[in-house]
Amino acid sequence: MNIKLSQHLPKTHTQKILKKEAKSKDESCLVVLVDDKQNVFAKSALTEYADRIEQLIEVSHFKGKACETVADYALAGDKKTTKQNPVQLLLVGVGSVDKLSEAVLQKIAKTIYNSTQKRVASITVDLGDALEENQFSQFALNLLAASYRFDKYKSEQTTSVLTDIYMIADESLQPALDFVQSVFVGQSLTRDVANEPGNICFPAYMAEQAQALGKAYPDLLKVTVLGEDEMSALGMECFLAVAKGSTKEGKLVLMEYQGKSKFSAHTGATKEATSAAKVSGGLKALADKLPTNLPTKKTAKNTVKENVDNTQTSNDDAPIVLVGKGITFDSGGISIKPGAAMDEMKFDMGGAAAVLGTMKALCEARLPINVVGALACAENMPSGDATRPGDIVKAMNGKSVEILNTDAEGRLVLADTLCYVQRYAPSAIIDVATLTGACVVALGHVRSAVFSNDEDVLFALENASDQTGDLIWHMPMDDAYQSQLDSPIADMQNIGGKGAGAVTAACFLSRFVEEGQAWAHLDIAGTAWNSGAEKAATGRPVPLFMQYLKNRLNRA
Ligand SMILES: [Zn+2]
Repeated sequence: MNIKLSQHLPKTHTQKILKKEAKSKDESCLVVLVDDKQNVFAKSALTEYADRIEQLIEVSHFKGKACETVADYALAGDKKTTKQNPVQLLLVGVGSVDKLSEAVLQKIAKTIYNSTQKRVASITVDLGDALEENQFSQFALNLLAASYRFDKYKSEQTTSVLTDIYMIADESLQPALDFVQSVFVGQSLTRDVANEPGNICFPAYMAEQAQALGKAYPDLLKVTVLGEDEMSALGMECFLAVAKGSTKEGKLVLMEYQGKSKFSAHTGATKEATSAAKVSGGLKALADKLPTNLPTKKTAKNTVKENVDNTQTSNDDAPIVLVGKGITFDSGGISIKPGAAMDEMKFDMGGAAAVLGTMKALCEARLPINVVGALACAENMPSGDATRPGDIVKAMNGKSVEILNTDAEGRLVLADTLCYVQRYAPSAIIDVATLTGACVVALGHVRSAVFSNDEDVLFALENASDQTGDLIWHMPMDDAYQSQLDSPIADMQNIGGKGAGAVTAACFLSRFVEEGQAWAHLDIAGTAWNSGAEKAATGRPVPLFMQYLKNRLNRA
């Protein structure tokens, strides 16, 4: 799907794109948005259609309620009208302009797409200056996202004749539209990978997807895959406790995006290897060291100050690390799940899929920032080799964990991965996981939960949430919850009993993040996919991540 800004209303006899498509459906459709007071968006640009629009509103009793539609096909038989205005008109209601949230814009975008995709080759949506930049971006992303299909397993694919979307809006919105297109490309990869069934998408499949990206963007992305032997040598027993019940090998996939030195405007940034590049470049050399031997965030910053004169640049060089839970199928293991909707546990790699898609979006947007993506991939299955409830294992940081429930496995792969990624001396770590059913009970399918030990990271994520409409909600992580994880026999147990399940999961993860390391945890169990007839991955929170990363470039 192409999407472009335009300053012109559609005219079939001047539009080249339509001539190319002339053999099939060559019609164009002008989409006119109308609010619930029957005010027409960008009315001044529509003077040549004013009469037609007015008549259409009147004869159809059009109210302008959100997603209400009425079409005027301007049929060829109606010579007088078609000669003057040879395009189709589609009026779409937007409801109250004060209530144009992302959720409403999504519905309107879907309505526009579904009303036109089988009828016309191009649509022109006249927005004028009715939407501010964030709303414009949300609307454009949703128009693109409406065209997404995952029908590769159907013998008949759905076809659409709509190929081009023009948005009449100010030229200053071009950079925003470019960014949206990058986000869409990344989000589509997230949805593709997450929608794959569990008999295709194994940990190795995730690693292959990452390696394919590394090949597609060789100058930007370095991909390293650790297998079970390497993880075993690192002492990642928690991770391996999950993977061992499956015949498919667990994989820790590391994707290093180095946009800072590639695209930075600061000449100083490329003068010598930055601390982040040194750390990531030294990945193999450090591989057998425990993170306790490595600089914490604070000491890393101090080192940087001594070595490089431009401290502003240096702080920006420390990477953001995104960690994604990648359980390619979660049966629950020996603590096996009930059968109903168990198929949806193929989506339990939604966090890793979101990180993978974000890395692709970053490569497309070529943001001058350093980001490491870590995909913690394993399959959680019951077998003779599977972990038993009551088993005790040691995490990479030496802490012992009594595994009381093998279905609380996401936190186990994340625990070791969080230990591992601190070797990058990150400016922040954000993990994302379809972690707890308790989170779905708390927040449903509208907002993802966010937990954090750092106010700056939290504020920046909340800001990105407001801007994108990819919503999050701040949840507590008081120390008082920590005692729910006390074990009589080990340093901790992997479940916190009844009550506050999403919180105790976050508390568990916090024990693998060192003092002073900025960290946030997103629980996307309720937002990564839709259930039932609409069963499909949503691609969240790729928009949130991309906005967060983009905003970091503008920090004072
Ligand atoms: Zn589970």
